[in-house]
Amino acid sequence: VTGVVAVALRIEQRALRQLTDVPVVRIGMGRKARVPAGSAPLLLAGVGGGLQPEVRPGHVVVASEVVDGDTRTPVPSAVLLARSLRRLGLTVHVGPIASSTTVVTGAARERLAASGALAVDMESAALVASGRPFAIVRVIVDGVDAPLVHPGTVTRGITGLRTLARLAPALREWAEAAESAREVVLAGPRSFCAGVERAIDIVERALERYGSPVYVRRQIVHNAHVVADLQRRGAVFVQEVAEVPRGAWVVLAAHGVSPAVRRQAEERDLQVIDATCPLVAKVHNEVRRYVHLRDTVFLIGHAEHEEVEGTVGEAPDRVIVIPDVATARTVEPVDPTRVAYVMQTTLAVDEAEEIASVLRERFPGLAAPRRDDICYATTNRQAAVRAVAAESDLVVVVGSANSSNSRRLVEVAERAGTPAHLVEDAGEIDLDWLAGARRIGVTAGASAPPQLVEELVKSLHGLGPVHTRELRVATEQIRFTLPREVV
Ligand code: SF4
Repeated sequence: VTGVVAVALRIEQRALRQLTDVPVVRIGMGRKARVPAGSAPLLLAGVGGGLQPEVRPGHVVVASEVVDGDTRTPVPSAVLLARSLRRLGLTVHVGPIASSTTVVTGAARERLAASGALAVDMESAALVASGRPFAIVRVIVDGVDAPLVHPGTVTRGITGLRTLARLAPALREWAEAAESAREVVLAGPRSFCAGVERAIDIVERALERYGSPVYVRRQIVHNAHVVADLQRRGAVFVQEVAEVPRGAWVVLAAHGVSPAVRRQAEERDLQVIDATCPLVAKVHNEVRRYVHLRDTVFLIGHAEHEEVEGTVGEAPDRVIVIPDVATARTVEPVDPTRVAYVMQTTLAVDEAEEIASVLRERFPGLAAPRRDDICYATTNRQAAVRAVAAESDLVVVVGSANSSNSRRLVEVAERAGTPAHLVEDAGEIDLDWLAGARRIGVTAGASAPPQLVEELVKSLHGLGPVHTRELRVATEQIRFTLPREVV
């Protein structure tokens, strides 16, 4: 165990006596607090006072920054600790903690509250001054409507200490996740591809040019953060074009749509801006071309994915979705000599190739696209995560659960023999994944914003020094032109 838990008072140390396998040091209270020499990451735990009405006695506050007069110091690993504490069933707030070396009441307390701090304690500033990586958690013993009391002197203090004892499993997880030296290997390329950048750009420009609301059919790209951000800026997301008022502007998402959806939009006199990625549009073109010449088109992909739904819509009676090798082995087309195949753009390259080879073997006359349809961005991100996984103890993939290409990145890393997890953002990392993980590979799906990766790496800095390097397997320069409605 590398991390050390620090407390101010003996009674707090006693409350955490079940942490037998983690060092718990007493640093003293307020002005007398002294952080011992050393470089191990410190987690300051104890009781504190609530400064905002929503922060009630019994709640827990994890510091996202320490406010000391005019100085504000960020605490990067707050989200990691908060998740671990929430899993214990505690009510956890994440926000600034003000540090004051004296007990504060009345007007002084109001001034601290005005800084936006959720809680006040008396030792955080000493931790900041130590220069060591740190985190801070406070169990609230007094709130806005109850003046600060000395812990242990009243019932509320005793209840607070009992809650502090409940924190022990999360404090242990944090101490075990801390490292004296850790490396982060960033996969390159990662994050946004040209099709996703174009789709987001289209919605932003449409909002600028035509004003809010601009309707968007389905998630513009499969990422919750991107959708929430555009929603804030005036985009209205709908499931079907039938929900869009007649004559309004509507953007069709990057995954493409079936011709039936375009017809519905026309019937409603909608002003359509098509954000379908040109590489998805290419697969639609292939299907149209094949159905002129062949009886059956196999579409290697996942039937429930929106991209596949749209591609199948080009010729619903003639396209058969092939999700796996077993289906490829048993599928019976009308005429086995008049068949072709295409692919979903975001599949795992190796799996898709296995399925295609079964089809080629069974149907010697099988027509195929000149190049496989899995796009450059999917291929590059998978190659990069494979290289990163080979040298990492753990791989973290940033992406939404409904993002096909992000999920494939997890699978590719796992097939390389490395445990891998998909997270929406740093707030979904479980501390117990990090125990013993000295080298962590990090990547992001093509729909995940790059700043989420930056925030995730930053959060690891609170668990000890982190050295970051990039392992780049390809350089991407592809850019797609925008539709004329937004140029
Ligand atoms: S992942 Fe590939 S197909 Fe999908 S939007 Fe990006 S470039 Fe286009």
